[in-house]
Amino acid sequence: MFELLKTEDRARRGRFVCPHGEVQTPVFMNVGTQAAIKGGVSAIDLKEVGCQVELSNTYHLHLRPGDEVVKTMGGLHQFMNWDGPILTDSGGFQVFSLSGLRKITEEGVTFASHLDGRRIFMGPEESMRIQANLGSDIAMAFDECVENPAPYEYVKQSCERTLRWLARCKVEHDHQKTLPDAVNPNQMLFGINQGGTYADLRVWHMKETANIECDGYAIGGLAVGEETQVMYDIIDAVEPHMPKEKPRYLMGVGTPSNLIEAVFRGVDFFDCVMPARNARHGKLYTWEGALNIKNEKYKTDGRPIDPVCQCPVCKSFSRSYLRHLFASGEMLAMRLAVLHNLYFYNSLMQRIRDSLDEGSFSAFRAEYSQKLALKI
Ligand SMILES: [Zn+2]
Repeated sequence: MFELLKTEDRARRGRFVCPHGEVQTPVFMNVGTQAAIKGGVSAIDLKEVGCQVELSNTYHLHLRPGDEVVKTMGGLHQFMNWDGPILTDSGGFQVFSLSGLRKITEEGVTFASHLDGRRIFMGPEESMRIQANLGSDIAMAFDECVENPAPYEYVKQSCERTLRWLARCKVEHDHQKTLPDAVNPNQMLFGINQGGTYADLRVWHMKETANIECDGYAIGGLAVGEETQVMYDIIDAVEPHMPKEKPRYLMGVGTPSNLIEAVFRGVDFFDCVMPARNARHGKLYTWEGALNIKNEKYKTDGRPIDPVCQCPVCKSFSRSYLRHLFASGEMLAMRLAVLHNLYFYNSLMQRIRDSLDEGSFSAFRAEYSQKLALKI
C-alpha cells in the first residue's frame, strides 16, 4: 500500500494507496473538523486548492450530527461530497482537550460533551465503531494525548495504557471491517506513538507500537506546549524505530518551516488547523514569509497576496480588496484567505515532493526553512 519512491538522507518521497485514491507523499492533509473547512470552504473548493487528503474529526461528528446519521447518509464521503481519501482522528485529542470533567480508566474515558454537558463514554472499541460508521480511509487508534510537560511517571503509565488500547483498537477495527454493512470494508488503521517529551519512553513506546501490525504509524502528543527544538529532538529519537515500509504521520504540525524540518527528519503525513485558523485572522503565507493583510500598508496595494501564487484568489483579487473585506467584516474575507493559505500549504508540499524527485530537497530546505518563518 505504501511505496517508497525515493529518499534523500532521511527525507522520503512516496505514494500511498487508499481505498479512495492514491496519495503522493509527503502530504499535508486539509482539516475539515466537522465535515467542513472553517471559513466557508467546501469539499468542492478542496479540489481547487490541491487537497489530497481531507481530515475530519471523530469527536465532533460523534456529537453532531452523530456518526449513525453519517452512516445512514452513506458515510462521510457521500455526506460531505468528497471522493478522495479521508483520515479521521480517533477523538482522543478532543476528549482530552475540549471536554470538561473527564475520568480515565482502563476501559476508556468518560467525559462531558462541550456542547451540552451530556456524559459520554469513549474507549478504543467506541472510537473504532464511530470511525467505521464514518467510513474514512484511514482510522486513527484511540490514545491519550498528554499535555507537555507532564510528570514522567504519569506519561509512562499513560503510554503503557495507550499501547493496550491499540491492541484493542486493532481487534475491533478488524471486526468492524468484516461486518456485512461496513461503510468502508477496506478502512486502514494507524497506530500512534506517545511518551510526552521523554525520549526513552517515546522509543520504548514506538518499538512496542510497531510490533502491532498497522497500516501506518503516527507521532502524537507533540506541538502541545513544548519548544520546537524539543519536538525535533523527539522526532530524531523516534524516527529510527518507525517501520521504514509504512507511512509516518506527525499529528497536528505545523508551520511551513516545521513541515520542511519534519520532512527532513523522515515524516510523510501532516495535518494542522494553523493555515485555516491564521487565514481567518488575516495572517497569509507567501513564498517570502507571512503577511498580515489587515495592515494599513496594504490599503492601496494592487498586487495579489503572493505574486507567484497560482491560487484562484491570487489570480483574481488584490491585497487592497482583501484588506477591505477584513475591515468590513465580510464573510468573503475569511473564505478567500483560507483558500489561499490551504493552496499555499498544498503547493509547499508539491514543491517539497518535486525537490525530492529532483534530488534537491536539501537545497530547498536551505532556501525556505528560515525564509517561510519570516514576517513581511
Ligand atoms: Zn494565492
